[in-house]
Amino acid sequence: MKAVKVLEPFKIDIIEIDMPKIENEYDVIVKVTSGGICGSDMGIWNGTNSLATYPRIIGHEFGGVVNEIGSGVKNVKIGDRVAVDPIVSCGHCYACTIGRHNVCSTLEVMGVHRDGGFTEYVKVPEKNIHKFHIDFDESLLGLVEPFTIGMQINNRLQTQKDERMLIMGSGPIGICAMQVAKSRGVKVLMTDIVMERLEKAKDMGADEIVLTTKDNLNDRINKFTNGEGMPIVLDTVCIPETFEESISYASPAGRVAVIGLKNKPSNIVMADITKKELTIVGSRLNCNCFDEVIEGFETKKLNPEKLKTKEFNFMDARAAIDAIEKYPQNILKVVLKFE
Ligand SMILES: [Zn+2]
Ligand SMILES: [Zn+2]
Repeated sequence: MKAVKVLEPFKIDIIEIDMPKIENEYDVIVKVTSGGICGSDMGIWNGTNSLATYPRIIGHEFGGVVNEIGSGVKNVKIGDRVAVDPIVSCGHCYACTIGRHNVCSTLEVMGVHRDGGFTEYVKVPEKNIHKFHIDFDESLLGLVEPFTIGMQINNRLQTQKDERMLIMGSGPIGICAMQVAKSRGVKVLMTDIVMERLEKAKDMGADEIVLTTKDNLNDRINKFTNGEGMPIVLDTVCIPETFEESISYASPAGRVAVIGLKNKPSNIVMADITKKELTIVGSRLNCNCFDEVIEGFETKKLNPEKLKTKEFNFMDARAAIDAIEKYPQNILKVVLKFE
């Protein structure tokens, strides 16, 4: 069978590997149908993902159809459509014991720290498998994971009905977080520096959009919140400057989510946090969000169709990467198909 492997930065290949075999009673072998290419895959491709090691079979956003199960597997059967949670955790560190395995002290993510799902068949433990209950479009199974990121952010921010939220950046994570927020009745204002992206965000449910190269964001926030400032702020741009801005846009008693993995410092003074008594939360990957996202897909509260911009066969992974590099502003999510 074939797999998509990044051998070293800027070197990607379709390689031949052995079919996985059931070795453990809780093993499940999934015939992968689709996968989403993420910014962090692009980081592995271009050498900017500090967590990655090489060579690596990439892919942490993937799903497919159950092909084979171990003798102890109870929750899925052959033929089920499933999405795979790529998180591998130890189960006994502090974070794991309080139910937050997504920040396990020895956390590994399939497709980043260990081989991932851009392969025709993949073996995963039953606990990482989440099934659909209806016949769902197989090209969208790989898009559950990015929505779990959006759901985790909303969970960490404890977003609630009728609250107002600023999402800086209208890329895939911003859009996924927005859709989850909207499904909870939150009013969302989104920003970007590319109008096409903002139009897409509006089309997918954002209440208001702000082109920050043209409009004054401060004025728009004041209008949106009656001069209060933003109770909830999410920065998906994730550069030191936008982290600083997210603190300044937050209202007194506001909550701010941080999702960036950059190591560069920001200039934030203590007083800005103390005076407003801000709650600043990190949000990483997802913690048990798969089933709720799948339910959102099935009930159409969440809309993965519009997140998918383009499809490529996995054999053309290189062309898919080129397309993302060439037209980043026109692409939300590129999906690789494995048939
Ligand atoms: Zn991703
Ligand atoms: Zn752990």
